[in-house]
Amino acid sequence: MAQDVIEISKSEQLNQVDFNIPFIILGEGSNTVFLNDYSGLVISMKNSGIEKTQDEKFIYLNVAAGENWHALVCSTLAEGILGLENLALIPGSVGAAPVQNIGAYGVEVQKFINYVKGYDINQKRFYTLLNEQCEFAYRESIFKGELNQKFIITEVGFKFNKSWQPELTYGPLKQISLTGSNKEDAKQIFNQVVTIREEKLPDPKKIPNAGSFFKNPIITNLQLQALLKDYPEIPHYPVGLNSKNIKIYKLAAGWLIDQAQLKGFKIAGIEVNPQQALVLLNHGGSSGDDIIQMILTIQHTIRAKFSVELDHEVRIIDTDGECKISLSNLCLKGKL
Ligand SMILES: Cc1cc2nc3c(=O)[nH]c(=O)nc-3n(C[C@H](O)[C@H](O)[C@H](O)COP(=O)(O)OP(=O)(O)OC[C@H]3O[C@@H](n4cnc5c(N)ncnc54)[C@H](O)[C@@H]3O)c2cc1C
Repeated sequence: MAQDVIEISKSEQLNQVDFNIPFIILGEGSNTVFLNDYSGLVISMKNSGIEKTQDEKFIYLNVAAGENWHALVCSTLAEGILGLENLALIPGSVGAAPVQNIGAYGVEVQKFINYVKGYDINQKRFYTLLNEQCEFAYRESIFKGELNQKFIITEVGFKFNKSWQPELTYGPLKQISLTGSNKEDAKQIFNQVVTIREEKLPDPKKIPNAGSFFKNPIITNLQLQALLKDYPEIPHYPVGLNSKNIKIYKLAAGWLIDQAQLKGFKIAGIEVNPQQALVLLNHGGSSGDDIIQMILTIQHTIRAKFSVELDHEVRIIDTDGECKISLSNLCLKGKL
């Protein structure tokens, strides 16, 4: 619940919004958890429209922020525009996709983003950022960082190479045998991704949940070597070098939570999904404090067992605005 909600069906409406009062931006709300009633204005992007152009090598789409992500994946595939099949069934809007650089099954959306258009709240004008200006990284972008609360995404430009390459590096997709017909093969990947996701992830319409609650932590090689002594089987994936030129690795947050015996752990109506430890289920009857307690308990348990910090991927909104919950901040409100 919020004090007021404005639905933006045409980007130009943003010129009329009073940004002097506290506000948050929302797409479909699938990655956002409200701890309490929010006291400010909710700006909800509901604009629609898809424009297509092409040249010899590429197909270009300009898609309004309010379009639904999965519907876009389905419509591109139906039209023979290939590339988004690994990202099927991710809930939410197109406008939110660049914010955390949505990713799944070996693909991140940044691979297909050509540009992001939006409204600069301070300068009261629209401008475009090219892909390389968006600072995309694992579940990160400039829209979550420097431009958080400063820039409202109104349209996303995509670029698809007509010469399509399947992405089959993720475990269960490796078994797909390609037919040689690009469209058929992309459809196979889409179907497989949908099947896996339906088996693995609870449908938020049936049991409320926000998908993966925590980000997979990134650690240095030194930390990894220490962990491997106690947990030789710990899943880890190289992700390159950090800013200090040190090798870094991604761990699987779900595996850590599972190893800490937290599957099925409950605080009031909040439960660590017994099937998939990275997902928190909301069975109802819980308060914002219960959610905070659950996050802190998981973070504390993982720190104590593995000396690893878990950050929540889900955006958390309290009465005054967005807050980050961590063992050092507990709940840092309105400072993001
Ligand atoms: C069951 C389930 C499975 C999921 N699986 C995945 C997955 O596999 N991979 C993955 O990456 N994510 C996944 N997610 C997370 C979620 O789908 C994505 O984060 C998605 O992009 C959220 O879209 P939304 O419109 O609902 O965003 P919202 O929750 O409405 O917003 C998310 C954030 O983006 C900001 N935002 C939204 N729209 C705009 C805009 N137009 N301009 C500026 N900022 C904006 C909001 O302020 C907020 O901070 C999953 C979620 C669920 C519930």
